[in-house]
Parts: sequence; structure tokens; C-alpha cells
Amino acid sequence: MTLSFDPDRLPLPVGHFIGDRLVPADGVLDMHRPSDAKAYGGCPVADENMVDRAVQTAKQALKVSNWGGVRPRERTVTLQRWADLIEGEAETLAKLEALSSTRPVGQLVAGDIAVTAEQIRFFAEFADKEGSDLVPTDDSSLGMIMTEPYGVVGAITPWNFPVSMAGWKLGPALAAGNAVVLKPSELTPFSTIYLAELAIRAGLPAGLINIVLGDGQVTGNAITGHPEIAKVSFTGSTVAGSAIMANIARTGVKPMTLELGGKSPQLVFADADLDKAAMVISQGILSNAGQACVAGSRLIVEESIAAPLAEAIVARMKMVTAAPTWDETTQYSPIISKRQLSRIHSIVESAVSAGGECLFGGAPMDAPGYFYQPTLIAVRDELSPAVTEEIFGPVLTLQTFADEEEALALADHPTYGLAAGLFTRDLSRAIRLTRRLQAGTIWVNRYSRSRDHILPTGGYKQSGIGKDLGREAYLANRKSKSVLISL
Ligand code: NAD
Repeated sequence: MTLSFDPDRLPLPVGHFIGDRLVPADGVLDMHRPSDAKAYGGCPVADENMVDRAVQTAKQALKVSNWGGVRPRERTVTLQRWADLIEGEAETLAKLEALSSTRPVGQLVAGDIAVTAEQIRFFAEFADKEGSDLVPTDDSSLGMIMTEPYGVVGAITPWNFPVSMAGWKLGPALAAGNAVVLKPSELTPFSTIYLAELAIRAGLPAGLINIVLGDGQVTGNAITGHPEIAKVSFTGSTVAGSAIMANIARTGVKPMTLELGGKSPQLVFADADLDKAAMVISQGILSNAGQACVAGSRLIVEESIAAPLAEAIVARMKMVTAAPTWDETTQYSPIISKRQLSRIHSIVESAVSAGGECLFGGAPMDAPGYFYQPTLIAVRDELSPAVTEEIFGPVLTLQTFADEEEALALADHPTYGLAAGLFTRDLSRAIRLTRRLQAGTIWVNRYSRSRDHILPTGGYKQSGIGKDLGREAYLANRKSKSVLISL
């Protein structure tokens, strides 16, 4: 079996997924394959009426199936069957994802897709374990906190990890008894549609998952402003998160979970294991070509080891080659679009013209698609956009520090606080700095999530509100009601 495939011969599901079927729709937004820049198909745009149709379908499905009120184990078992099918159909899912996104097909089956199936099982298990709590009161009363599903949850996801991000939203919302209307990114819609088809095949009542395609301005706004969507769960940029808050405020009030951007620092002390640090830091910026919310994009290193660490990272950057996402052996990702490729390059150029020293890379790669060289820049100007802005590309800046206080000052970003990495063999220092670093996730001597789904993920500062994954994500999909009964 080979996962490599011909991108011109892959059948694509083009349309919205409403109820239990695809509602074909014309593609109106241009789409280009990141791996070879070739135009293909197009993404339809659901208008307010189509979004309303999806919401009414979801409401009716909740009523007919009583999904929020059935014995919770039924939800668990249905979602477990869905996870099994996701694993069984991983090859098709992987191809649909690899065609339009930046994820290499060879990394998806055992990576993103297997982890998504695991996470859906993880959330499925909460359904019959997290419930109402009795609370202490005096003998004449019975007090409890009841929890209930919201109803219809609106979810919006980005293009950088399409299946994973859809799983983060759908798993907890469905396990908690809700129906979902989800809009994937207009750049990468196909794998999410197939996920919904698989859920129906697994026996999920029709209408509990609805996928509407389109951009943020039309379809996204129609979701966040819909009066019968009870909660919004969003993952994407901080700019879009802010626009979503404004639209929700303009059209009413509803709870929201926002997982937003980052500009995460990697702090390396002279006592760290340098080989390991070089490997982990390289992966932290080269994975998905830096197009990850938690990309470790700011290397902050103790002066005495800056030169050997930079050399070891450059040695790893030199090994990178460009190849299409539909080739099974591909390791390195293209950039999602031509526009984003130009943006990355202009930020790199501005860092260099402000006195930054490009230690490696610094230009688009000589390849048919949108590939950018892994890039390491020693920056002089702390206010350079290369240090302050989320680049969303394979660009690592290098700054040096003399002591812990300076390291912390450089690490602290005025806007973002999503993740931070820390490399040291000194346990006391690791704990001391972990307490002071302002980020929602801290990794010590590593830089990846692994499969510990119990750990919630989310941002400090403008990197977000609320959490995905963990118990928090399940509870965020249920509202609580305080009850006091006089005995
Ligand atoms: P984006 O904000 O441009 O778009 C994300 C999604 O929101 C897309 O589906 C888009 O169509 C939609 N959208 C855009 N504007 C909208 C609006 N006004 N109303 C409603 N929907 C709107 O982000 P992107 O380029 O797709 O993804 C990259 C961003 O996502 C980065 O900033 C990255 O850090 C962030 N991200 C965060 C996490 C996390 O867990 N914190 C995970 C992945 C990606």
C-alpha cells in the first residue's frame, strides 16, 4: 500500500454537508494547491439562508434524537464507533487533507488522524462520567449544580491542521450532548466534510453535525451572529477572534471559546543538553513549516552557547528539501498560499534591513509550489516585526540574554501568551521560570503536545479565551444550573 497519490485524480466532495448528505454547491472562491500552486476547484460560500438551514437542521435533530437527553453511554458508544471509522478510513481522509493543505500525506495517518480518533474517544468517555454535583448545604435543603448541553454550537476552524482542529471542536461538543454547525477554512474544506460523512455512517443521528463552507465575512459572520447558535468555538488568528467578539457583541451575547495566535519563545540556558535542544527547537519551528499556533518562533539563548546552538540548528535546517504533500516520503510543508509566502519574505527582508543577520535561509525555495527556506535570523532590533508579529512560516529569530531576568523580559510578549519552551538541566530554575512565564502551555526540555489529551490547551493574553482539550473543553460545552430544594 502506498499513500502517495495523483492530485489530479482525487474525487472531491464539493458542497455543504447538511443533515445526512452533501448539498452540492458551486465553488466560487478560487483554490490553489500549496504544493504546486495549481488552481483547482473552488470553495462554495454558504450565505445566511444556508447557515440558517444548517442551524434549523441541527435544532430539529436535537429534538428528534434527544441527543442531549439519551442515556449518556449511547453518546459514548456512537462516538467510539465514529473514532473507529476515522481510523479505518484514515487513508482517504489523509489524501483529502494533503491535497489542499500543507500537511504531508505521510504524516497524517499515524499522526493527525490517529490522534484525532484518540481524542474523540477521550471526549466520548466523559459523557457518562461528568455530571451534576451535590453541594454541601444545611439539613433542610438539597443543593446541586446541574449541567446541560447548550444546544447548537457554532464552530469555526483554521486551515493549518484541518482534521485535528475539527476534532477538537466536534469531539467535546457532541460528547456533551450538543449539535454542531461547523465552518472549516475556505482553503481546506474537504477532509472536514468527509469527517461528517463518517460520523453519519457510524450512526450519529443525522443533523447533529452540519458543515457549511465559506469565508469569514459571509459564512463566519452568519454563524457567530445567528441568534439560535448558543455558543461559539473558534480557532484562528487573533485579528479574526477580535472581529468575532465584535460581531457577537453586535448581535447579542453568547459564550465563546477563542483559540488564537502566538509568538512563542524558546529559552535555552547554558546548562541544557544542546543536541537535544537543537533537535527539539528545529522541530518546533519546522513542523508544518512553522504554520502552527504554538510554533516556537523566538529563540532566546544564553550568550555563551548562542554560536554552537545556532550552528546545530542550521545543520538541521540544511537537511530540509521541498516535495509535494501527496508524496508519501515528504517531510517538509509548503506555505499555504502565495500571499502568505510573500508576507513571510517581506518580514524577513525588513528584519535584515533593520540590521538582522540571516544565518540561514531567507528566501523562497526553488520549487513549483509555495515553499520557503527554513530561516534563522539573529535580530538586533527587538521591535522588528520578525520578533513581534506572528509570521506563520519557518522563520526563527535569535536573541541572546545574560541572565534569567533578561531572558524573562525578552520572552514576555505584549500581545501573545500561547506557549513557551524552556531548556535547562537545573530543576529549580525550570520550576522558578515556569511559574513566571506568561503562557498557557510551558514545555520543559521538549516542545510538543504528545498524546496527553487531558492537558488543556489555550492562551494567556490575546492568545485566547477558554481551553480546548482536557476536561475544560468538555465542561465548556455544557452550561451549569444551580438548584436549591427545600426539604
Ligand atoms: P484566520 O483567523 O484567518 O481564519 C480562521 C477561520 O476563521 C477560517 O475558517 C476563516 O474563514 C474564519 N474567519 C476569518 N475571519 C472571520 C470572521 N470575521 N468571522 C468568522 N470567521 C472568520 O486564521 P488562519 O489563517 O486560518 O489560521 C492561522 C491562525 O490560526 C494563526 O493565527 C494561528 O496561530 C491560529 N491557530 C490557533 C490555534 C490555537 O489552538 N490557539 C490552533 C491553530 C491555529
